[in-house]
Amino acid sequence: MSRVVNIPDETIRPKRLDDFIGQNELRSNLRVFMSAALERGQAMDHTLLYGCPGLGKTTLAQIIAAELGVNLISTSGPVLERSGDLAAILTNLDRHDILFVDEIHRMPPTVEEILYPAMEDFKLDLVIGQGPGARTVKIDLEQFTLVGATTRIGLLTSPLRDRFGVISRLEFYSPEDLARIVTRAAGILDVELSENGAMVIGRRSRGTPRIANRLLRRVRDFALVEGDGVVNAKAAEQALARMDVDDSGLDYMDRKILETLIHHYGGGPVGVKTLAVACSEEVRTIEEIYEPYLMQCGFLKRTPRGRVATPRAYAHLNLISAAPGDQGNLCKS
Ligand code: ADP
Repeated sequence: MSRVVNIPDETIRPKRLDDFIGQNELRSNLRVFMSAALERGQAMDHTLLYGCPGLGKTTLAQIIAAELGVNLISTSGPVLERSGDLAAILTNLDRHDILFVDEIHRMPPTVEEILYPAMEDFKLDLVIGQGPGARTVKIDLEQFTLVGATTRIGLLTSPLRDRFGVISRLEFYSPEDLARIVTRAAGILDVELSENGAMVIGRRSRGTPRIANRLLRRVRDFALVEGDGVVNAKAAEQALARMDVDDSGLDYMDRKILETLIHHYGGGPVGVKTLAVACSEEVRTIEEIYEPYLMQCGFLKRTPRGRVATPRAYAHLNLISAAPGDQGNLCKS
């Protein structure tokens, strides 16, 4: 029975590499890079983590700092408006500190430029004054590690990308790993969760730990108010159905995207901007949040001419794919 009600997300976040579930290859590589840095007595190489939102990029940055026993200073690309903002942070770093820049692809170009010498030589080129009297002053920085996180590696400029020694991609998690993640979170939240209940949540969490933990909290609410507080498979299934999460983990907006594509545009191809307007959603949200999972499940394809719904999407929505040239003719199977 759940007693502790408002436990913040930070409490659930794994603090050490051993608590970080899944991403086995990335985890074991990071372990090697961290041990090597500690043995050499140097800062770890600059590291770029990329992957969809909620897969654990921030968590890994915090874990790296904890494992190396150094400070973590966090900021994000859009917050760093002027080069002075970044200069102030860089000059305050202690030896071997981790500077975590979330959404690094959204850093303005002027800020990015002062990062190049900082990453390469641990030096800062500051321009003092304006016009003919302006001069450049070089400032030595402490050796630090930049950990950048991005959902869109393709938007990073190549000079910035090339300056990272480690570039790692976070993959979607398997249902089994997600079941382990919610089981661990349930222990912290004091929720009674059965093995089958964990698997139901794991299968419907879009491969994403943040969503798995969120679903766990909501399923717990339903179990508490409408059941006996225990989250078993039946309770989890009922609660997820009430939240409009289907058995592939698709929610209302995922299905709306596929249905719009099929019903309004004959299954595609259609441009993402048109699709976004038709679904009343931001292009960025469709590209960063919905599409990756729909593609991973094989429901949607990106082609040079636009987005296309796959036969699997028709089957999932219980529709029969129309014959070529007869695209308006959809029928329920
Ligand atoms: P991102 O920075 O990629 O958007 P976060 O690192 O903020 O994602 O992760 C979101 C939440 O998911 C965290 O609060 C954490 O509790 C959980 N989480 C992420 N990855 C894992 C993992 N591998 N094991 C356990 N929990 C995880």
